[in-house]
Amino acid sequence: MSQRPKLVLVGQLSTLPWLFEAAERAGIDLILVPRGDDTKESAGRAPAVVELLPLDIEGDPEGALSQLAGRYRQEPFGGIMAANEQAVPFVARAARELGLVGLTEKTAALVRDKRSMRRHLLEAGLGTPGFVVVEAPDRWADALSLRFPVVVKPVSGHSSFGVVRVDDKDGLEEAVAGTWALVDARRGANDGLAAQVGVVVEEYLDGPEISAESLVHRGEVRVCAISWKGELTGPYFQETTLRAPAQLPAEVLAATEAEVIAAHHAFDVTEGTTHTELRLVGGVRPVLLEMGARIGGGGYMAHFAHVGSGIDLAADALRIHLGRQPLYWSEKPVPAGHVAAYQVPVGSGGRVKRVHGLDSVRADPRVEYVVQNAGPGTLLPPYPDFAGYPVIVISRHGSDAEAEAYREHLASTLYVEYEDQG
Ligand code: ADP
Ligand code: CA
Ligand code: CA
Ligand code: CA
Ligand code: CA
Repeated sequence: MSQRPKLVLVGQLSTLPWLFEAAERAGIDLILVPRGDDTKESAGRAPAVVELLPLDIEGDPEGALSQLAGRYRQEPFGGIMAANEQAVPFVARAARELGLVGLTEKTAALVRDKRSMRRHLLEAGLGTPGFVVVEAPDRWADALSLRFPVVVKPVSGHSSFGVVRVDDKDGLEEAVAGTWALVDARRGANDGLAAQVGVVVEEYLDGPEISAESLVHRGEVRVCAISWKGELTGPYFQETTLRAPAQLPAEVLAATEAEVIAAHHAFDVTEGTTHTELRLVGGVRPVLLEMGARIGGGGYMAHFAHVGSGIDLAADALRIHLGRQPLYWSEKPVPAGHVAAYQVPVGSGGRVKRVHGLDSVRADPRVEYVVQNAGPGTLLPPYPDFAGYPVIVISRHGSDAEAEAYREHLASTLYVEYEDQG
């Protein structure tokens, strides 16, 4: 066996470089299980990827598991890690069967389901909005007991797919039917948007949104970065803005950390890295929206922690899954600046004619990464449907004010033009 540790990375999209770069920095070799919908030829090209192991995790989990076990018997690897939301349950199961570091299957299922997350937060006495699980489309009236406005959403979506704000009782039936139909249409697809059928309705949490990236090693949780997502008031919730470190009063940051750590304990998340989203109700009181028990944004939130807090979160996540102690447990981090992401709005949707403003973005020295997921010909449905973010721009700045000003500049110069609908 070679000296370099080997880790199986499940479901990493090949266009997102951060985990590949982190593995290189940390001297870790990757066996990449490409994401089911990754059609790019580039999957094996990152230097850290030493092997490709295609597995049909969505279509044939049993077969995928026995293939993985066969690969392990041939030459054991040191760990396995999920790179996206839908890989979390499979990876937990594989880790248990192979005796590797991971979450319990119970926890993996819990964090994939917004119903169970809400129930566990409630039981643990943590902040949670009033919520109702709608068990069938014609049971929408069950949610009339809630305080409006409410938010209707799939029980296990991502990227705000099917998430709709409803201001009064008159709009509820239609919204539940709409979200239900979107989920039904995705059933059986391998994008994780409809892993479970069902809809949750919950009371609207009024306040700005933030996210927290954490590392967890042997049950010890450390919040590594808190990012500002801003005011998202709906009726649909495409994220466009992220900036770190979030400029918030020390007491709000401390309350956020406490809430996030307690949520890990409530869900029994004991190993790995997590991406937690919260609202600051009234600007001050952190309440969880949800937690992903995996790296945020396919690795880009780890880059936020790396720049904004000086913590190499992606490399440390890989280390944790190899059973090693993260470097952050023994080294003091040195923040490197302010980092920002702008996700180009899908807007009206349609067939993409072109994306305006990309050339000047690519030439801008403040820009570190441009991830383009949509080009001419791509069909992008408008929110509340979802088929990918058209373009993500990640930039670095000397201050939060500069980052914010650059966001305003991008908002007016970088946009998708659609073909005429006729
Ligand atoms: P997803 O898994 O699709 O990301 P979320 O539960 O995170 O689903 O919801 C997506 C977005 O919708 C959130 O980021 C937030 O902006 C908004 N949202 C969801 N639930 C609420 C709520 N109860 N109050 C206010 N906003 C909400
Ligand atoms: Ca979310
Ligand atoms: Ca989610
Ligand atoms: Ca999400
Ligand atoms: Ca998110």
